[in-house]
Amino acid sequence: MSGLLADRIRDVPDYPKPGVVFKDITPLLADPVAFGALTDALAELCARYGATKVVGLEARGFILAAPVAVRAGLGFVPVRKAGKLPGATLGQAYELEYGTAEIEIHAEDLTPEDRIMVIDDVLATGGTAEASLALIRRAGAEVAGLAVLMELGFLEGRKRLEPALSGAPLEAL
Ligand code: 5GP
Repeated sequence: MSGLLADRIRDVPDYPKPGVVFKDITPLLADPVAFGALTDALAELCARYGATKVVGLEARGFILAAPVAVRAGLGFVPVRKAGKLPGATLGQAYELEYGTAEIEIHAEDLTPEDRIMVIDDVLATGGTAEASLALIRRAGAEVAGLAVLMELGFLEGRKRLEPALSGAPLEAL
């Protein structure tokens, strides 16, 4: 399983800037067997942790989370970059290497009864996931877990996320 997925992730040196090795998931998405296996594995995590909805993080998180939601029989809710959602939003700012970013969610899409599985492709520093978990709790829902295809261990995102997860599982396939 991990070989089927790992073999279809391409290292792109010096992207998006010199010194960074970007993990490109498009070869995996282009392979229906690998994409299907990934979708199944993530849907299984949703069932294992009792999720009621799936939240995908813009933009690659959308590609993974939407088929997982359908496969698991759950609703899909997007977390978007600020200014993209048309309705009433809750926003959460977070630090980037240079400057800050903000993400938003339609608060009305989550209820206090919801248990949310957050899905993204890559966990790097953990900043995006940390802000998303805060947003979900502020919207009144519970966090069922965070599931990513890949964790860049040397950036220690898992350690950073410990307080934000507050006991919820972090699964990296
Ligand atoms: P973080 O906030 O954890 O530092 O960065 C995670 C976000 O940046 C994720 O939404 C992810 O899509 C993106 N990201 C960071 N590095 C990579 C990478 O090497 N490959 C891919 N596909 N996405 C990355």
